[in-house]
Amino acid sequence: MSDTEIIAAGKVAGIHYVLTDGKGKVLDQSTEEHPMYYLHGHRNLVPGLEKQLAGKKVGDHVTAVVPPEEGYGRRQGKAQQMRRSEFPEDAVIEVGARFMVKTREDQTIPVWITKIMGNTVTIDHNHPLADQTLHFEVDVLFLREATEDELTHGHSHGKEGHGHSHGHGQEEENADQGADQDADEQSDHDAV
Ligand SMILES: [Zn+2]
Repeated sequence: MSDTEIIAAGKVAGIHYVLTDGKGKVLDQSTEEHPMYYLHGHRNLVPGLEKQLAGKKVGDHVTAVVPPEEGYGRRQGKAQQMRRSEFPEDAVIEVGARFMVKTREDQTIPVWITKIMGNTVTIDHNHPLADQTLHFEVDVLFLREATEDELTHGHSHGKEGHGHSHGHGQEEENADQGADQDADEQSDHDAV
């Protein structure tokens, strides 16, 4: 097996994965028909998973148990409450929705809606999977060299390397839509 055939920095790998909490509850997964293509070595995945995929080849199955420190981190800071009216009119207000907000230090960070009670919307900058040990079952389906563009952008452009829409997928588009000044002005992001 030569080095060109194993997962390493600068390669795009196509993987099928199932993420569970270790007790059988599926938290996230790809499908075999629509694997996830990621650029290795650019933190496209949580660090613990990326680390355990290094050196693998097409056909390998990987069981990766990732502690929170190498996953989505430990919870810190507190959730905050906003009024529904403080979100943009076209914002999708639902539990699990993600928004990008600016902190007082002018950093843009993601926050997630964790609770909705009438007009009160609770947001939390901790990732929903913070504090969780992640259990991945991964099949490596595909591997190729990254293109120049992919290396420049720091992410994969799909299987062929040129199917590129710069929204980076649905989740990012929603987030852009929700990027709002109101949250900036109102919320106290002191905890960040
Ligand atoms: Zn790109």
